[in-house]
Amino acid sequence: MTDKLRAKLINAGRVLVDEGQGDYVWGHISVRLPNEPNRFLMKPGCIGIEEMTDDNIITVDIEGDKVSGDWPRHNEVFIHSEVLRARPDVNCVIHTHPEHAVAFSSLGRELQPMSNDGTMFSAGVPIFSETTDLIVNQERGKAVARTLGDKGALILRNHGIVTAGSTIEHAVFLAIKLEKACRIQMLAEQAGGPKLFVKEEELAAKRSRTNRGDSQGNAFSYLVRRSYLRCGCEVPQEYQATLENFDSTGYKGGKG
Ligand SMILES: [Zn+2]
Repeated sequence: MTDKLRAKLINAGRVLVDEGQGDYVWGHISVRLPNEPNRFLMKPGCIGIEEMTDDNIITVDIEGDKVSGDWPRHNEVFIHSEVLRARPDVNCVIHTHPEHAVAFSSLGRELQPMSNDGTMFSAGVPIFSETTDLIVNQERGKAVARTLGDKGALILRNHGIVTAGSTIEHAVFLAIKLEKACRIQMLAEQAGGPKLFVKEEELAAKRSRTNRGDSQGNAFSYLVRRSYLRCGCEVPQEYQATLENFDSTGYKGGKG
């Protein structure tokens, strides 16, 4: 069980870097241990998020203290411990510094539903602006968790993003889509500013259609597959493009 979770965490790191979420050795991902809900696996400090291995992943408790592993703990661990403490529905937390989202956060603008990706976040993305410094203690971690509320994604102004998902696939999906939504909006801003938006009456339906659980899993599998194929490596069986691996639970036959 833990082996599978570790393997998925390692693959998540590869996918995140492929999708522009890497920032050298900064940025991190954690996943709650299913049988010990007050403990979580986390990427260690000092290495890139795509460099996680079975041997360097550390285990941390809900107070933010490392309980096992040789590698150092990120000093922003409190983003993870406090979001996981506040949100029993969340099992995976990601904090990264993707360039477009960070640039967008400096504009003081709200994300707008001008793309599929922007529409996904049209229920609102909280902005944490209590500090632009790193989140290095419990108090600040709790403040981030409070600002996140019941949402899946948050922007740390002039710093980065936090996503919180029920699964690794979910949190990765939110991180990638939030960065893409910011990138597309900035493209439109640079081209004179967006003039047309998703219709108000279409927002709710489109939001749920673009954020389905089966899409999250299928997108994650595709991204893992692409990562292995690009380096000429053999794709792990569970990520191969076979009908057995395809989650069609939310697919109703329409284009989506
Ligand atoms: Zn940070």
